Amino acid sequence: MLPQAFIDNMRAQFPDEAEPLFAALDQPYAAALRLNTLRGAISTLEAIAAPFTDGTVPWCGAGRYIKEGTRPGLSPLHHTPLYYIQEASAMAPAVLLNAQPGEYVLDLCAAPGGKSSLLAASLRGEGLLVSCEPDSGRASLLSSTLERMGVKNAAVINAYPGAIARAFPAFFDAVLVDAPCSGEGMFRRDIASRDAWLDGSCAGCASRQAEILDEAAKTVKPGGRLIYSTCTFDRRENEDNVSAFLERHSDFSIEDFELPGLGRSENGGLHVWPHRARGDGQFMARLRRADETSQRSAPKAAKPAKPDRDTQRAIEQLMAIAPGLEARSEIVRRGDMLLLVPRDMPDLSGLRVLRDGLRLVRAGKNYVEPDHALAMALFPEQAAGALDLDDEGALRYLAGETFDAPGRGWTLVTHRGLPLGWGKIANGTLKNHLPKGLRRAGR
Ligand code: SAM
Repeated sequence: MLPQAFIDNMRAQFPDEAEPLFAALDQPYAAALRLNTLRGAISTLEAIAAPFTDGTVPWCGAGRYIKEGTRPGLSPLHHTPLYYIQEASAMAPAVLLNAQPGEYVLDLCAAPGGKSSLLAASLRGEGLLVSCEPDSGRASLLSSTLERMGVKNAAVINAYPGAIARAFPAFFDAVLVDAPCSGEGMFRRDIASRDAWLDGSCAGCASRQAEILDEAAKTVKPGGRLIYSTCTFDRRENEDNVSAFLERHSDFSIEDFELPGLGRSENGGLHVWPHRARGDGQFMARLRRADETSQRSAPKAAKPAKPDRDTQRAIEQLMAIAPGLEARSEIVRRGDMLLLVPRDMPDLSGLRVLRDGLRLVRAGKNYVEPDHALAMALFPEQAAGALDLDDEGALRYLAGETFDAPGRGWTLVTHRGLPLGWGKIANGTLKNHLPKGLRRAGR
């Protein structure tokens, strides 16, 4: 049953939409996934994911509805960077942001990382993604998502928007605020959320969202764009919040837009209605900061010092494992870890950074051990050795088993050409180096 106060609110706020909306919320929802275009052409990815997919999400070229009765979340492919399971409407705000390769993009409320991974795919490895989340457990989840999707040019920061605004004034080309909200758009796929909803929560959420938006505004460079989204219907959290923001920030204006299958925004705001589109509830608006002459302003990280002899040797050992690794960014050493850090990475000191760039190898006295993040970002042809496993083999690998295998040394273990993790071959046996926390119980 829908909460009575929700029913009353919707009837008062959206008299034309309310009844069809209530009917749609009692229908089953359409699950979806998004192919990870960092891993190649959509047609290639689609061919691998085909057993699970059933039609394209109209507003997201990489989005696919999930075929009824299939469970892509249980497939070994879900341990590769092939796809991310994401509700179809939830793809729209990051599509609207339309990140371009080379841009600096901020995702301010980013966990668990669905929209961040779409933003990273749009950047195609060029430019910078800063993904932030104030809840530390959720920030770890966000970091794991970007790791599994093989993202190289992202920083993950566990911080509130105020700290981010102080660190990056007027820095980003585009900022996404996918705000915490009363979650009415989830009423269909998460029945328990109906019980958790309280009438008072919309007003409370609205004031928190306004605070987040005010901090976000400070990080947008002149001429840059700010995308605001929620997964709720209530006007107080959506249209009213946007109007109040515009009154407080005369340097921002609202821009109308159109998305395929979702139509055109009205006064800058667009609702995805479950009775009009094949997706759950979502609201989004696009704002733009006035263009002035001032430049972006966050300090860049200091240039890495020339590597010492130990580091140079570790880099050579790394290159023997992954000779095809493109070191377009800089390799830096932090403690015993080598990382590939995007050239544009700003100074992050003072912030709780979970990830900046790509972890490559842990360097010991006379050896290096490749990191799982490196595996997820590599293509088999970039690795010195690769072993492709069939479904059965992939499940065994995910369960932590060892394998008989020819060859020697660090080997990228793949399934359908997509990375699962590392193995190390010695004396005809591949030892399993999948991190213990990522192993699946049994087969
Ligand atoms: N964008 C995410 C995605 O696509 O996977 C979903 C974000 S969820 C709707 C909102 C997030 O905002 C939650 O992870 C929540 O922990 C976080 N959050 C809560 N309070 C916040 C605040 N004051 N500032 C920024 N983020 C906050």
